Amino acid sequence: LINIESIHKTFGKLEVLKGVSLDIAAGEIVVIIGRSGSGKSTLLRCINGLEKVESGKVVVDGTEVSAAKADLRALRQKIGIVFQSFNLFPHLTIEKNVTLAPRVVKKVSPDEAKKAAITALERVQIANKSGAYPSQLSGGQQQRVAIARSLAMSPKIMLFDEITSALDPELVGEVLKVLENLASEGMTMVLVTHEMGFARKVANRVVFMHEGKVWEQGAPETLFKSPKTPELAGFINSVL
Ligand code: ATP
Ligand code: MG
Repeated sequence: LINIESIHKTFGKLEVLKGVSLDIAAGEIVVIIGRSGSGKSTLLRCINGLEKVESGKVVVDGTEVSAAKADLRALRQKIGIVFQSFNLFPHLTIEKNVTLAPRVVKKVSPDEAKKAAITALERVQIANKSGAYPSQLSGGQQQRVAIARSLAMSPKIMLFDEITSALDPELVGEVLKVLENLASEGMTMVLVTHEMGFARKVANRVVFMHEGKVWEQGAPETLFKSPKTPELAGFINSVL
């Protein structure tokens, strides 16, 4: 579903991705780990065309994202992305936050958008808050709404960039639970996370990024138990 072929990305003089290749199949759950600055967020952003690559190729569901004339609008309807900061519209109710993109981008009718919103909010177990405003919700609840907002667009792929990192520890579990449910429904997911327990339990594959490269990858048990490189061994030690 996602084919990344030897991509390079630089910011000014800084080479952030140094030839990254990665293939992700439909239904796969891939967790990306690595130190700060190793290029994890940049890689995610290249997958949905938020960043342009200098060389190499990114193809998602048959569309070349990295092409100069890629239809990024169409592409972003297929790929949902959720960040650490929830970025909900503070002046809109939860329901309006979730119906906005389907109505504006997909031009679905208000009724249809509302139905899709309720379904999406049910999937993240927060349909009872549809009339509330973001400020009336906890961080965990807001993050679940942010996930619902992406789901309402019926994406084929979901990208998550450290979505639990800004949450109080007691709110992390409810968000991870939602991710687990999505995974069990067969959603293709690429997640950057420091939640190693989650990675072990849910990921089909863990990818360790180091200095702009895919340094090591494999099934979570193998990778965590027997790292092949000192860099990964050191990283695992530092996070456990
Ligand atoms: P973290 O764990 O801290 O989120 P990361 O692995 O996600 O790190 P990236 O955000 O991909 O790392 O950044 C990789 C490098 O690229 C960093 O050195 C960062 O400062 C730099 N960088 C990222 N985005 C930009 C930008 N828009 N302009 C300039 N430099 C950038
Ligand atoms: Mg990052």
